[in-house]
Amino acid sequence: MFKQHPKGLYILFFTELWERFSYYSMRAILVLFIISSVESGGLGWSNTEALALYGWYTMSVYLMSIPGGILADRYLGQKNTVLIGGIILILGHTILAFHGLHFFYTGLTLIVIGVGCLKPNISTMVGGLYKKGDSMRDKGFMIFYIGINIGAFLAGISVALISKIYGWHYGFGLAGVGMVLGVSVFLYGQKYLKGVGDPPKPRTEAKLEIKKPLTKIEKDRIVVLLLSFLIVIVFWGAYEQAGGLMNLYAHTLTDRTIFGFEIPAAAFQSLAAFYIIMIGATVANFWIRRRDKGKENSSIYKMAIGNIIMGLGFVLMVGASLQTTISATGEVLAKSSMIWLFGAYFLHTIGELCSSPVALSFITKLAPAKYASLMMGIYFAMTGLGNKLAGLLGEAAQSFGDTQIFGGIAGFSILFGLLLLLFLKKLKALTHGAEELQST
Ligand code: GLN
Repeated sequence: MFKQHPKGLYILFFTELWERFSYYSMRAILVLFIISSVESGGLGWSNTEALALYGWYTMSVYLMSIPGGILADRYLGQKNTVLIGGIILILGHTILAFHGLHFFYTGLTLIVIGVGCLKPNISTMVGGLYKKGDSMRDKGFMIFYIGINIGAFLAGISVALISKIYGWHYGFGLAGVGMVLGVSVFLYGQKYLKGVGDPPKPRTEAKLEIKKPLTKIEKDRIVVLLLSFLIVIVFWGAYEQAGGLMNLYAHTLTDRTIFGFEIPAAAFQSLAAFYIIMIGATVANFWIRRRDKGKENSSIYKMAIGNIIMGLGFVLMVGASLQTTISATGEVLAKSSMIWLFGAYFLHTIGELCSSPVALSFITKLAPAKYASLMMGIYFAMTGLGNKLAGLLGEAAQSFGDTQIFGGIAGFSILFGLLLLLFLKKLKALTHGAEELQST
Protein backbone atom coordinates (compact mmCIF):
# COMPACT_ATOMS: atom_id res chain seq x y z
CA MET A 1 0.00 0.00 0.00
CA PHE A 2 2.89 2.37 0.67
CA LYS A 3 4.67 1.75 -2.66
CA GLN A 4 4.60 3.73 -5.88
CA HIS A 5 3.07 6.89 -4.51
CA PRO A 6 4.71 10.22 -5.39
CA LYS A 7 7.11 11.51 -2.71
CA GLY A 8 5.02 14.66 -2.46
CA LEU A 9 2.30 12.57 -0.83
CA TYR A 10 4.46 12.09 2.23
CA ILE A 11 5.27 15.79 2.47
CA LEU A 12 1.55 16.55 2.44
CA PHE A 13 0.99 13.62 4.80
CA PHE A 14 3.36 15.02 7.45
CA THR A 15 2.30 18.63 7.02
CA GLU A 16 -1.34 17.68 7.50
CA LEU A 17 -0.43 15.30 10.32
CA TRP A 18 0.99 18.21 12.33
CA GLU A 19 -1.77 20.61 11.35
CA ARG A 20 -4.36 18.11 12.55
CA PHE A 21 -2.29 17.51 15.67
CA SER A 22 -2.70 21.20 16.51
CA TYR A 23 -6.33 21.32 15.53
CA TYR A 24 -7.38 18.29 17.51
CA SER A 25 -5.25 18.94 20.56
CA MET A 26 -6.89 22.30 20.91
CA ARG A 27 -10.33 20.89 20.14
CA ALA A 28 -10.00 18.06 22.64
CA ILE A 29 -9.70 20.47 25.54
CA LEU A 30 -11.75 23.38 24.24
CA VAL A 31 -15.11 22.37 25.73
CA LEU A 32 -13.52 21.02 28.88
CA PHE A 33 -11.51 24.24 29.36
CA ILE A 34 -14.60 26.40 28.89
CA ILE A 35 -16.72 24.52 31.42
CA SER A 36 -14.08 24.13 34.11
CA SER A 37 -14.30 26.64 36.93
CA VAL A 38 -12.36 29.90 36.94
CA GLU A 39 -10.43 28.71 40.03
CA SER A 40 -9.15 25.73 38.10
CA GLY A 41 -8.03 27.92 35.22
CA GLY A 42 -11.10 27.54 32.99
CA LEU A 43 -13.79 29.99 31.92
CA GLY A 44 -16.57 28.64 34.15
CA TRP A 45 -19.31 28.64 31.50
CA SER A 46 -22.29 26.27 31.44
CA ASN A 47 -22.40 23.12 29.28
CA THR A 48 -24.92 24.70 26.94
CA GLU A 49 -22.82 27.83 26.45
CA ALA A 50 -19.71 25.75 25.89
CA LEU A 51 -21.38 23.55 23.29
CA ALA A 52 -22.78 26.60 21.53
CA LEU A 53 -19.35 28.20 21.22
CA TYR A 54 -17.90 24.85 20.18
CA GLY A 55 -20.50 24.57 17.43
CA TRP A 56 -19.86 28.08 16.13
CA TYR A 57 -16.14 27.59 16.23
CA THR A 58 -16.03 24.22 14.46
CA MET A 59 -18.49 25.45 11.87
CA SER A 60 -16.52 28.61 11.15
CA VAL A 61 -13.27 26.70 10.85
CA TYR A 62 -14.66 24.73 7.94
CA LEU A 63 -16.82 27.49 6.43
CA MET A 64 -13.64 29.48 5.93
CA SER A 65 -12.59 26.78 3.46
CA ILE A 66 -14.73 28.48 0.82
CA PRO A 67 -12.79 31.77 0.80
CA GLY A 68 -9.64 29.69 1.33
CA GLY A 69 -10.44 27.68 -1.79
CA ILE A 70 -11.31 30.76 -3.88
CA LEU A 71 -8.10 32.47 -2.79
CA ALA A 72 -6.14 29.50 -4.10
CA ASP A 73 -8.11 28.96 -7.34
CA ARG A 74 -8.11 32.60 -8.37
CA TYR A 75 -4.98 34.19 -6.98
CA LEU A 76 -2.34 32.39 -4.99
CA GLY A 77 -2.50 28.73 -5.92
CA GLN A 78 -2.89 25.99 -3.34
CA LYS A 79 0.74 25.77 -2.34
CA ASN A 80 1.08 29.41 -1.27
CA THR A 81 -2.30 29.43 0.43
CA VAL A 82 -1.35 26.37 2.49
CA LEU A 83 1.83 28.10 3.62
CA ILE A 84 0.03 31.29 4.60
CA GLY A 85 -2.56 29.24 6.48
CA GLY A 86 0.20 27.41 8.32
CA ILE A 87 1.84 30.65 9.48
CA ILE A 88 -1.49 32.08 10.65
CA LEU A 89 -2.08 28.86 12.59
CA ILE A 90 1.25 29.12 14.37
CA LEU A 91 0.24 32.63 15.49
CA GLY A 92 -3.26 31.54 16.54
CA HIS A 93 -2.16 28.60 18.64
CA THR A 94 0.63 30.57 20.27
CA ILE A 95 -1.77 33.35 21.27
CA LEU A 96 -4.11 30.80 22.89
CA ALA A 97 -1.31 29.80 25.21
CA PHE A 98 -1.71 33.18 26.98
CA HIS A 99 -4.30 33.78 29.71
CA GLY A 100 -7.15 36.21 29.08
CA LEU A 101 -10.43 36.28 27.22
CA HIS A 102 -9.20 38.60 24.45
CA PHE A 103 -6.29 36.23 23.75
CA PHE A 104 -8.80 33.40 23.68
CA TYR A 105 -11.01 35.03 21.05
CA THR A 106 -8.09 36.32 18.95
CA GLY A 107 -6.50 32.88 18.96
CA LEU A 108 -9.74 31.19 17.91
CA THR A 109 -10.24 33.70 15.08
CA LEU A 110 -6.75 33.17 13.71
CA ILE A 111 -7.22 29.40 13.84
CA VAL A 112 -10.46 29.73 11.89
CA ILE A 113 -8.68 31.74 9.16
CA GLY A 114 -5.61 29.50 9.15
CA VAL A 115 -7.50 26.23 8.81
CA GLY A 116 -9.65 27.79 6.07
CA CYS A 117 -6.53 28.54 4.05
CA LEU A 118 -4.76 25.27 4.73
CA LYS A 119 -7.22 22.41 5.00
CA PRO A 120 -9.10 22.43 1.66
CA ASN A 121 -6.03 23.32 -0.35
CA ILE A 122 -3.74 20.67 1.01
CA SER A 123 -6.44 18.10 0.24
CA THR A 124 -6.75 19.35 -3.34
CA MET A 125 -2.98 19.13 -3.66
CA VAL A 126 -3.14 15.42 -2.86
CA GLY A 127 -5.45 14.97 -5.84
CA GLY A 128 -3.01 17.02 -7.94
CA LEU A 129 -0.31 14.42 -7.39
CA TYR A 130 -2.23 11.85 -9.45
CA LYS A 131 -3.12 11.80 -13.11
CA LYS A 132 -6.71 11.46 -14.31
CA GLY A 133 -7.83 7.85 -14.04
CA ASP A 134 -4.95 6.79 -11.80
CA SER A 135 -6.16 3.89 -9.67
CA MET A 136 -3.69 4.89 -6.94
CA ARG A 137 -5.64 8.05 -6.16
CA ASP A 138 -8.08 6.49 -3.66
CA LYS A 139 -5.26 4.73 -1.87
CA GLY A 140 -3.27 7.96 -1.80
CA PHE A 141 -6.17 9.66 -0.06
CA MET A 142 -6.46 6.79 2.40
CA ILE A 143 -2.76 7.15 3.29
CA PHE A 144 -3.22 10.90 3.65
CA TYR A 145 -6.23 10.25 5.87
CA ILE A 146 -4.22 7.91 8.06
CA GLY A 147 -1.71 10.77 8.47
CA ILE A 148 -4.53 13.05 9.57
CA ASN A 149 -5.46 10.56 12.21
CA ILE A 150 -1.96 9.91 13.46
CA GLY A 151 -1.95 13.64 14.19
CA ALA A 152 -5.34 13.47 15.85
CA PHE A 153 -4.32 10.45 17.91
CA LEU A 154 -1.09 11.96 19.20
CA ALA A 155 -3.05 15.13 19.95
CA GLY A 156 -5.67 13.59 22.20
CA ILE A 157 -3.17 11.59 24.21
CA SER A 158 -0.56 14.28 24.72
CA VAL A 159 -2.85 17.22 25.30
CA ALA A 160 -4.91 15.28 27.83
CA LEU A 161 -1.79 14.56 29.86
CA ILE A 162 -0.13 17.94 29.49
CA SER A 163 -3.20 19.96 30.35
CA LYS A 164 -3.95 17.71 33.31
CA ILE A 165 -0.43 18.03 34.71
CA TYR A 166 0.54 21.59 33.75
CA GLY A 167 -2.76 23.36 33.00
CA TRP A 168 -4.88 24.29 30.01
CA HIS A 169 -2.59 26.90 28.52
CA TYR A 170 0.30 24.49 28.18
CA GLY A 171 -2.10 22.22 26.32
CA PHE A 172 -2.89 25.06 23.91
CA GLY A 173 0.81 25.88 23.59
CA LEU A 174 1.52 22.31 22.55
CA ALA A 175 -0.71 22.83 19.53
CA GLY A 176 1.51 25.74 18.50
CA VAL A 177 4.60 23.54 18.63
CA GLY A 178 2.86 21.00 16.38
CA MET A 179 2.08 23.69 13.84
CA VAL A 180 5.71 24.85 13.70
CA LEU A 181 6.66 21.28 12.79
CA GLY A 182 3.95 21.18 10.10
CA VAL A 183 5.13 24.37 8.41
CA SER A 184 8.76 23.19 8.61
CA VAL A 185 7.96 19.93 6.83
CA PHE A 186 6.05 21.78 4.14
CA LEU A 187 8.90 24.21 3.51
CA TYR A 188 11.46 21.41 3.43
CA GLY A 189 9.36 19.39 0.98
CA GLN A 190 8.87 22.08 -1.67
CA LYS A 191 11.19 20.23 -4.04
CA TYR A 192 8.81 17.28 -4.10
CA LEU A 193 5.81 19.43 -4.86
CA LYS A 194 6.95 20.98 -8.11
CA GLY A 195 4.05 21.55 -10.48
CA VAL A 196 1.43 20.79 -7.82
CA GLY A 197 -0.84 23.55 -6.53
CA ASP A 198 0.95 26.36 -8.36
CA PRO A 199 -0.68 29.80 -8.75
CA PRO A 200 -3.24 30.07 -11.57
CA LYS A 201 -2.17 31.27 -15.02
CA PRO A 202 -1.70 34.99 -15.65
CA ARG A 203 -4.92 36.94 -15.65
CA THR A 204 -5.69 37.20 -19.36
CA GLU A 205 -5.21 33.49 -20.05
CA ALA A 206 -7.09 32.49 -16.95
CA LYS A 207 -9.92 34.85 -17.84
CA LEU A 208 -10.45 33.14 -21.18
CA GLU A 209 -10.52 29.70 -19.55
CA ILE A 210 -13.00 30.71 -16.96
CA LYS A 211 -15.21 32.20 -19.43
CA LYS A 212 -15.46 28.87 -21.24
CA PRO A 213 -18.92 27.52 -20.41
CA LEU A 214 -19.15 24.25 -18.51
CA THR A 215 -20.09 21.23 -20.58
CA LYS A 216 -23.20 19.18 -19.81
CA ILE A 217 -21.02 16.46 -18.28
CA GLU A 218 -19.19 18.96 -16.08
CA LYS A 219 -22.49 20.44 -14.96
CA ASP A 220 -23.92 17.02 -14.09
CA ARG A 221 -20.82 16.21 -12.13
CA ILE A 222 -21.11 19.41 -10.17
CA VAL A 223 -24.76 18.55 -9.45
CA VAL A 224 -23.88 15.12 -8.10
CA LEU A 225 -21.08 16.62 -6.04
CA LEU A 226 -23.47 19.14 -4.53
CA LEU A 227 -25.97 16.36 -3.81
CA SER A 228 -23.28 14.27 -2.19
CA PHE A 229 -22.58 17.22 0.07
CA LEU A 230 -25.98 16.60 1.66
CA ILE A 231 -24.64 13.25 2.79
CA VAL A 232 -21.72 15.10 4.24
CA ILE A 233 -23.91 17.33 6.41
CA VAL A 234 -25.81 14.36 7.81
CA PHE A 235 -22.67 12.35 8.39
CA TRP A 236 -20.70 15.02 10.23
CA GLY A 237 -23.76 16.28 12.10
CA ALA A 238 -23.87 12.91 13.75
CA TYR A 239 -20.21 12.02 13.84
CA GLU A 240 -19.06 15.29 15.35
CA GLN A 241 -20.84 14.59 18.60
CA ALA A 242 -17.36 13.27 19.36
CA GLY A 243 -15.86 16.54 20.56
CA GLY A 244 -19.08 17.83 22.14
CA LEU A 245 -21.84 15.63 23.51
CA MET A 246 -19.88 12.37 23.53
CA ASN A 247 -16.94 14.19 25.09
CA LEU A 248 -19.18 15.49 27.88
CA TYR A 249 -20.76 12.07 28.13
CA ALA A 250 -17.34 10.50 28.65
CA HIS A 251 -16.53 13.25 31.13
CA THR A 252 -19.58 13.08 33.40
CA LEU A 253 -21.53 9.89 32.73
CA THR A 254 -18.96 7.23 31.97
CA ASP A 255 -17.07 5.15 34.48
CA ARG A 256 -13.54 5.63 33.18
CA THR A 257 -11.68 3.84 35.92
CA ILE A 258 -9.54 0.92 35.00
CA PHE A 259 -7.22 -0.80 37.53
CA GLY A 260 -7.66 2.17 39.84
CA PHE A 261 -6.56 4.67 37.16
CA GLU A 262 -9.01 7.13 35.69
CA ILE A 263 -8.64 7.63 31.95
CA PRO A 264 -9.06 11.37 31.20
CA ALA A 265 -12.17 12.11 29.12
CA ALA A 266 -10.13 13.92 26.45
CA ALA A 267 -8.19 10.71 25.80
CA PHE A 268 -11.34 9.23 24.27
CA GLN A 269 -10.91 11.81 21.54
CA SER A 270 -7.97 9.74 20.37
CA LEU A 271 -9.91 6.55 20.11
CA ALA A 272 -11.43 7.11 16.67
CA ALA A 273 -8.07 8.17 15.32
CA PHE A 274 -6.42 5.10 16.83
CA TYR A 275 -8.97 2.84 15.16
CA ILE A 276 -8.42 4.57 11.82
CA ILE A 277 -4.70 3.98 11.99
CA MET A 278 -5.35 0.34 12.84
CA ILE A 279 -8.05 -0.48 10.29
CA GLY A 280 -7.66 2.16 7.56
CA ALA A 281 -5.70 -0.18 5.31
CA THR A 282 -8.15 -3.04 5.92
CA VAL A 283 -11.14 -0.95 4.89
CA ALA A 284 -9.29 0.32 1.79
CA ASN A 285 -8.41 -3.26 0.83
CA PHE A 286 -11.96 -4.41 1.43
CA TRP A 287 -13.20 -1.96 -1.20
CA ILE A 288 -10.42 -2.87 -3.61
CA ARG A 289 -11.32 -6.57 -3.32
CA ARG A 290 -14.94 -5.72 -3.96
CA ARG A 291 -14.00 -3.71 -7.03
CA ASP A 292 -11.87 -6.59 -8.32
CA LYS A 293 -14.81 -8.92 -7.91
CA GLY A 294 -16.86 -6.51 -10.02
CA LYS A 295 -19.23 -5.61 -7.16
CA GLU A 296 -20.73 -2.19 -6.45
CA ASN A 297 -17.90 0.10 -5.45
CA SER A 298 -18.95 3.67 -6.26
CA SER A 299 -18.16 6.51 -3.90
CA ILE A 300 -21.84 7.30 -3.27
CA TYR A 301 -22.44 3.67 -2.33
CA LYS A 302 -19.54 3.74 0.12
CA MET A 303 -20.81 6.98 1.64
CA ALA A 304 -24.30 5.52 2.08
CA ILE A 305 -22.89 2.45 3.82
CA GLY A 306 -20.75 4.80 5.93
CA ASN A 307 -23.85 6.62 7.18
CA ILE A 308 -25.59 3.39 8.10
CA ILE A 309 -22.64 1.99 10.04
CA MET A 310 -22.16 5.27 11.87
CA GLY A 311 -25.87 5.23 12.78
CA LEU A 312 -25.37 1.80 14.32
CA GLY A 313 -22.69 3.34 16.53
CA PHE A 314 -25.35 5.60 18.00
CA VAL A 315 -27.50 2.59 18.78
CA LEU A 316 -24.69 1.64 21.17
CA MET A 317 -24.79 5.12 22.69
CA VAL A 318 -28.49 4.59 23.38
CA GLY A 319 -27.44 1.46 25.27
CA ALA A 320 -24.91 3.53 27.22
CA SER A 321 -27.41 6.18 28.20
CA LEU A 322 -29.93 3.56 29.33
CA GLN A 323 -27.32 2.31 31.78
CA THR A 324 -26.94 5.65 33.55
CA THR A 325 -29.17 6.93 36.33
CA ILE A 326 -29.48 10.59 37.17
CA SER A 327 -31.48 11.79 40.17
CA ALA A 328 -34.16 14.49 39.91
CA THR A 329 -31.63 16.97 41.31
CA GLY A 330 -29.17 16.13 38.54
CA GLU A 331 -26.89 13.95 40.64
CA VAL A 332 -25.25 11.06 38.78
CA LEU A 333 -26.26 7.86 40.60
CA ALA A 334 -25.00 5.29 38.09
CA LYS A 335 -22.49 5.75 35.30
CA SER A 336 -22.28 3.65 32.16
CA SER A 337 -19.49 1.30 31.19
CA MET A 338 -16.70 2.49 28.90
CA ILE A 339 -17.34 -0.47 26.63
CA TRP A 340 -20.20 1.41 24.95
CA LEU A 341 -17.94 4.28 24.01
CA PHE A 342 -15.28 1.91 22.70
CA GLY A 343 -17.89 0.17 20.55
CA ALA A 344 -19.58 3.35 19.33
CA TYR A 345 -16.31 4.96 18.29
CA PHE A 346 -15.34 1.77 16.50
CA LEU A 347 -18.47 1.83 14.35
CA HIS A 348 -18.14 5.57 13.82
CA THR A 349 -14.66 4.97 12.55
CA ILE A 350 -15.66 2.33 10.04
CA GLY A 351 -18.38 4.71 8.86
CA GLU A 352 -15.87 7.53 8.58
CA LEU A 353 -13.43 5.43 6.57
CA CYS A 354 -16.21 4.58 4.13
CA SER A 355 -17.15 8.24 3.77
CA SER A 356 -14.49 10.79 4.39
CA PRO A 357 -11.34 9.83 2.42
CA VAL A 358 -13.67 8.56 -0.30
CA ALA A 359 -15.37 11.95 -0.54
CA LEU A 360 -12.05 13.79 -0.81
CA SER A 361 -10.95 11.59 -3.66
CA PHE A 362 -14.39 11.79 -5.30
CA ILE A 363 -14.19 15.59 -5.38
CA THR A 364 -10.79 15.61 -7.07
CA LYS A 365 -12.15 13.18 -9.69
CA LEU A 366 -15.31 15.14 -10.45
CA ALA A 367 -14.60 18.83 -10.01
CA PRO A 368 -13.55 20.80 -13.10
CA ALA A 369 -9.91 21.87 -12.59
CA LYS A 370 -10.68 25.57 -12.41
CA TYR A 371 -13.06 25.02 -9.50
CA ALA A 372 -11.04 22.28 -7.80
CA SER A 373 -10.25 24.14 -4.59
CA LEU A 374 -13.62 25.84 -4.47
CA MET A 375 -15.44 22.49 -4.59
CA MET A 376 -13.14 21.17 -1.91
CA GLY A 377 -13.85 24.34 0.05
CA ILE A 378 -17.60 23.80 -0.26
CA TYR A 379 -17.14 20.21 0.86
CA PHE A 380 -15.38 21.28 4.03
CA ALA A 381 -17.93 24.03 4.54
CA MET A 382 -20.61 21.33 4.50
CA THR A 383 -18.69 19.36 7.09
CA GLY A 384 -18.71 22.67 8.99
CA LEU A 385 -22.49 22.87 8.80
CA GLY A 386 -22.48 19.28 10.01
CA ASN A 387 -20.35 20.38 12.94
CA LYS A 388 -22.80 23.13 13.77
CA LEU A 389 -25.69 20.71 13.51
CA ALA A 390 -23.80 18.43 15.88
CA GLY A 391 -23.48 21.32 18.31
CA LEU A 392 -27.21 22.09 18.11
CA LEU A 393 -28.08 18.45 18.70
CA GLY A 394 -25.71 18.40 21.65
CA GLU A 395 -27.38 21.49 23.10
CA ALA A 396 -30.80 19.91 22.54
CA ALA A 397 -29.66 16.88 24.49
CA GLN A 398 -29.24 19.14 27.53
CA SER A 399 -33.03 19.52 27.62
CA PHE A 400 -34.35 16.45 25.76
CA GLY A 401 -32.03 13.91 27.30
CA ASP A 402 -29.17 11.89 25.85
CA THR A 403 -31.20 8.76 25.07
CA GLN A 404 -33.60 10.64 22.83
CA ILE A 405 -30.88 12.49 20.98
CA PHE A 406 -28.66 9.43 20.48
CA GLY A 407 -31.70 7.40 19.36
CA GLY A 408 -32.84 10.12 16.96
CA ILE A 409 -29.41 10.40 15.38
CA ALA A 410 -29.19 6.61 15.00
CA GLY A 411 -32.58 6.34 13.30
CA PHE A 412 -32.04 9.26 10.99
CA SER A 413 -28.56 8.24 9.82
CA ILE A 414 -29.61 4.67 9.10
CA LEU A 415 -32.74 5.69 7.18
CA PHE A 416 -30.85 8.31 5.24
CA GLY A 417 -28.24 5.76 4.19
CA LEU A 418 -30.94 3.37 3.02
CA LEU A 419 -32.60 6.12 1.03
CA LEU A 420 -29.34 6.83 -0.77
CA LEU A 421 -29.03 3.20 -1.75
CA LEU A 422 -32.48 3.45 -3.26
CA PHE A 423 -31.41 6.35 -5.52
CA LEU A 424 -27.93 5.03 -6.18
CA LYS A 425 -28.38 4.33 -9.89
CA LYS A 426 -29.72 7.81 -10.61
CA LEU A 427 -26.92 9.50 -8.70
CA LYS A 428 -24.25 7.38 -10.34
CA ALA A 429 -25.54 8.24 -13.80
CA LEU A 430 -24.73 11.90 -13.12
CA THR A 431 -21.03 11.13 -12.64
CA HIS A 432 -20.75 10.09 -16.32
CA GLY A 433 -18.25 7.38 -15.60
CA ALA A 434 -15.80 9.62 -13.73
CA GLU A 435 -15.07 6.73 -11.43
CA GLU A 436 -14.78 4.04 -14.08
CA LEU A 437 -11.89 5.93 -15.60
CA GLN A 438 -9.65 4.21 -13.12
CA SER A 439 -7.47 1.49 -14.50
CA THR A 440 -7.11 -1.36 -12.03
N1 GLN B 1 -11.44 14.05 10.61
C1 GLN B 1 -11.13 14.60 9.34
C2 GLN B 1 -10.09 15.65 9.41
O1 GLN B 1 -9.82 16.23 10.40
C3 GLN B 1 -12.32 15.12 8.62
C4 GLN B 1 -12.79 16.45 9.08
C5 GLN B 1 -13.88 16.99 8.20
O2 GLN B 1 -14.05 16.61 7.07
N2 GLN B 1 -14.63 17.88 8.74
O3 GLN B 1 -9.52 15.94 8.42
